[in-house]
Amino acid sequence: MKLPVVVHRARLGADEFRVVRPAGPLSRAVLIDHDRHLDAYVDQDAARGIAGLWMLAARSPRSLIHVPLRANRMPVREVPDDAGSRLDLVLLHHSLQFAPSHWKRVRGRLGPGRPQTVSLPEAEQGDGEVTDPATRHHRENRDLFHQHLHAETLFMTGSAKVFRETARHFLDVARKGPGHIPVHPGHPHFCTELHSNDGILGDAREIHIEYCDQWPS
Ligand SMILES: [Zn+2]
Repeated sequence: MKLPVVVHRARLGADEFRVVRPAGPLSRAVLIDHDRHLDAYVDQDAARGIAGLWMLAARSPRSLIHVPLRANRMPVREVPDDAGSRLDLVLLHHSLQFAPSHWKRVRGRLGPGRPQTVSLPEAEQGDGEVTDPATRHHRENRDLFHQHLHAETLFMTGSAKVFRETARHFLDVARKGPGHIPVHPGHPHFCTELHSNDGILGDAREIHIEYCDQWPS
């Protein structure tokens, strides 16, 4: 996969932050806060784009990966979902020790940025790495996702390992979602989940990721 991104810099006091965003907007994607859990609705392009950014997060311990989503419109669904608030997404590593309370100022100070194309050969490799369930419960705390909510933004803090192992959720939706709908007209629901039983969530809520092909034009 070739992923076009823009690399921004932002200075805050003595610190400089590297913020990576998708080059083009992922407009057919939303992330909704439903209190007990989170819902992501994505079309094929957005699922692929987020999978790419997720894999980029795995190998970018010094960067904040910012996926602007909160201004996007909701998909057209049989049961309209207007219950929760829309969020942006930021992916980052525990080792960066970034305080989400600084995010609003960082976001406001981003430079124009430098376009770059990232090559992600790992996106073409089957279904990705799947961890043996027996080892899941022995993983270190740093290999679990922690979430923070700040400035209408969900911060997913993880490690290279946990980002690498979970990108396949979005790849799955991109690969299998579009084909599922026409052959299951009675139940046109294709989804996957970052589930609490997967041994990947620390202080974090579950994220249900659903494929949606109907969006307002
Ligand atoms: Zn579902």
